[in-house]
Amino acid sequence: MKQVFGVVVQPGTTRDQKKTGWRIYKPHFKQVDCIGCRACHRCCPDGAVYRIDKKKFDSDMDACKGCGICAEMCPVDDIEMVLEGKPDEDNS
Ligand code: SF4
Ligand code: SF4
Repeated sequence: MKQVFGVVVQPGTTRDQKKTGWRIYKPHFKQVDCIGCRACHRCCPDGAVYRIDKKKFDSDMDACKGCGICAEMCPVDDIEMVLEGKPDEDNS
């Protein structure tokens, strides 16, 4: 299936605001089956995904709002959304 990427003109413009309290789910980068396609990196609207190695990515929990786009876009299901905990807890 063809993947079409949207354009985020200025990603990460809200990076100065911690998103910890926003999330119900947070992405867990399993770092097992990653093929290094960078779909997660390119699609994150907050610029929260960062590269550790060629086939190893993770997300900055201070910037992530838990939208789940990265997990949806990962072609090998190497990202899963997991329950964050109570929204008012600081789980960073
Ligand atoms: S859940 Fe959303 S904000 Fe968080 S890293 Fe994935 S795409 Fe970015
Ligand atoms: S979308 Fe999935 S396979 Fe592609 S770089 Fe991100 S974690 Fe790796």
